[in-house]
Amino acid sequence: MDSNADNVQSHFIRNIIEQDISENKHGGMVVTRFPPEPNGYLHIGHAKSICLNFGMAEEFNGRCHLRFDDTNPLKEEEEYVESIKSDVRWLGYDWGEHLYFASDYFDKLYEYALMLVKQGKAYVCSLSPEQIREYRGTLKLAGKESPYRERSVEENLDLLDRMKAGEFQEGEHVLRAKIDMAASNLNLRDPVIYRIVNASHHRTADKWCIYPTYDFAHGLSDAIEGVTHSLCSMEFEDHRPLYDWFVDQVPTPSRPQQIEFARLNMSYTVLSKRKLIDLVENGYVEGWDDPRMMTISGMRRRGYPPVAIRNFCEMIGVGKSENLVDMNMLEYSVRDYLNKTAMRAMAVLRPLKVVITNYPEDQEEELEAINNPEDMDMGSRPVPFSRELYIEQTDFMEEPPKKFFRLAPGREVRLRYAYFIKCDEVIKDDNGEITELRCTYDPETRGGAAPDGRKVKGTLHWVSAGHCVNAEVRLYDRLFYKADPTAQEKNGVDFKEYLNPDSLNLLQSCKLEPGLADYKPGDRVQFERQGYFCVDKDSSQDKLVFNRTVALKDTWAKIQQKSS
Ligand code: ATP
Ligand code: MG
Repeated sequence: MDSNADNVQSHFIRNIIEQDISENKHGGMVVTRFPPEPNGYLHIGHAKSICLNFGMAEEFNGRCHLRFDDTNPLKEEEEYVESIKSDVRWLGYDWGEHLYFASDYFDKLYEYALMLVKQGKAYVCSLSPEQIREYRGTLKLAGKESPYRERSVEENLDLLDRMKAGEFQEGEHVLRAKIDMAASNLNLRDPVIYRIVNASHHRTADKWCIYPTYDFAHGLSDAIEGVTHSLCSMEFEDHRPLYDWFVDQVPTPSRPQQIEFARLNMSYTVLSKRKLIDLVENGYVEGWDDPRMMTISGMRRRGYPPVAIRNFCEMIGVGKSENLVDMNMLEYSVRDYLNKTAMRAMAVLRPLKVVITNYPEDQEEELEAINNPEDMDMGSRPVPFSRELYIEQTDFMEEPPKKFFRLAPGREVRLRYAYFIKCDEVIKDDNGEITELRCTYDPETRGGAAPDGRKVKGTLHWVSAGHCVNAEVRLYDRLFYKADPTAQEKNGVDFKEYLNPDSLNLLQSCKLEPGLADYKPGDRVQFERQGYFCVDKDSSQDKLVFNRTVALKDTWAKIQQKSS
């Protein structure tokens, strides 16, 4: 796969797998899986897990399954299944024929549950959910055994069968594994393995009214599929003894080895699905694919290339301790890739008219502009030049301070790929606003150099007024202005308090080089001196819309300094 080879660093999971292969563990096979619950869209944290699971399988000639852990019919939807599939594919991975659903195993899992009951290792418990919680104890306090723990196998089989038949209300009974109420690991204190849920499932419809818990289904699904290396985030470390216990009680085809790694946390964003759902459903963003969201669909719409995301995941590595990864690293990776691959173009975002008074009114010409100075194989393109042009408002100052080297009255600058121009006159409206500059050009400087060797300090981008195309440009910035928006949650401050009010800046009357009129949604380009941009899905023949993917430099550090 086309990633930066120099980024590849080893990590403990790669080392474990290499060792396992050398010892012929699991018959030398590597089978991994990415197991999302279809209850939301995928985000950059999931990308880390996807790159790791699919990446390891690819590297060691194994396979990676895409399995939906769809055990909770209340929160799961088909829309999420489809979005997850397309996001994984977009990232560049292929599960081939290995698309699975935990719900495919509902019959098998029920069979396993029956086996546990018959072995006296599971029982129907009729405590209320509150009582179950109370009896469970705490880290310091041992749990208390349920009065229903010693029900006979016959009674348990009868009750379970009637639970399955829909004879009871939700919460009336659950099926629990019979392990150890005094275990120091709370997950082993007779965990619930089946509960009654009177809801239709997105795949099994109304076939079931009892559903396996995630804990019961997850490890056993891995074992049913023959997963060899079950890569999970750290929060499942304490669940591993339970998963192993289940697999040891019933005759599964294989015994997966679970390895935990630290989740990705990133600055200036939130990654919990619950919080993302809050932002979407309460209208703080436009939707799951809002370009400010660190969802895969948001990043795709924003213009992040999949290779850049994969390179980022390689760069951050895989370890066991959690930390907050700086958003700058992802932006660096995006810039790094786009710098090498994106076409350059000129675009004026806040236009100021320039009239070249000594350029004939009926004349126009084409100048040659380089498509990508990092890759001369990308060639060049013609850009039209004429008497009336636009430059950026911020590239002119009537009274320039010391270090301002761009255009000012009486000063000469270079128009990129074109000519030197000099500002002779500033035209203003009745309110004193500058509406136009009158300039003269030096025909001898065609291409941007003076034969007499005289130098200019500024080079400006520009477009020809009569040839340019109009566009809306959306300048995005970070969704939160605080690095860790959840830091004050324990003190009752909601993460939404830290939403950045300037995360979207809409510019409606931008002027682009004419060649950009043909750009289609998803196409990427560098606007010289401005940043990388991508055509939005809202774009049409009538109205071009570009999103700013990322600025050319990290301007954020500076802004923060100023505001603190
Ligand atoms: P969230 O906390 O955002 O709701 P989740 O863990 O509940 O996420 P799942 O659908 O269960 O979401 O996740 C699928 C897989 O992705 C799991 O194996 C999980 O470990 C992994 N994953 C989720 N979030 C991250 C993250 N931030 N970093 C790394 N892996 C993650
Ligand atoms: Mg989850």
